[in-house]
Amino acid sequence: MLNIILFGPPGAGKGTQSEKIINKYNLTHIATGDLFRKHLGEGTELGKLAQKYMDEGNLVPDQVVIGMVDEKLKEGANSNGFIFDGFPRTVPQAQALETLLEEKGESINGMIALDVPEEELKKRIKERGKTSGRADDQDENKIENRIKVYLDETLPVANYFDQKDKFVKINGVGSIDEIFNNICDQVDRLK
Ligand code: AMP
Repeated sequence: MLNIILFGPPGAGKGTQSEKIINKYNLTHIATGDLFRKHLGEGTELGKLAQKYMDEGNLVPDQVVIGMVDEKLKEGANSNGFIFDGFPRTVPQAQALETLLEEKGESINGMIALDVPEEELKKRIKERGKTSGRADDQDENKIENRIKVYLDETLPVANYFDQKDKFVKINGVGSIDEIFNNICDQVDRLK
């Protein structure tokens, strides 16, 4: 299996690039934000629980996220591997992911981080908000909070994998194809 974390702040382009990666390498996409939005749309208990955190741009509690990911890992047990997008967002989530993979005799091959300056992120999120219908993409304060939560709670995850020599950062500004080619160079090194 090839298990890769696509890392980066909100608006870095993780969703766009994940779609291209899963198609090229035939991997299973686990995007926790998308999964929560699906639950929300279907009105499940999990969706209701997640909504109050998502609306403010805060993180859903670790145990809830980890339980949901565990289920998705089981569903994709026979796939070529996974692209994790928007997960792990805290160090405990990272540790839990490693444990879940270890139980299957698997591990994280590497983390690829998309580097995008803060002003560019805000511009992209607001632009996306015009069509995404996401409340958290449309409000200046919520966007600010998501970036703050990223810096405070999520950035340590980069350090966590860097210490294990499983971290690489690439420029997340440029054309979609340019960035994709740079990601593919890194994925090919991890294969
Ligand atoms: P995203 O689509 O990745 O920007 O996620 C949208 C929202 O879903 C976030 O602002 C969080 O409220 C929630 N969420 C998504 N993934 C996670 C995660 N791994 N841990 C905690 N909350 C998450």
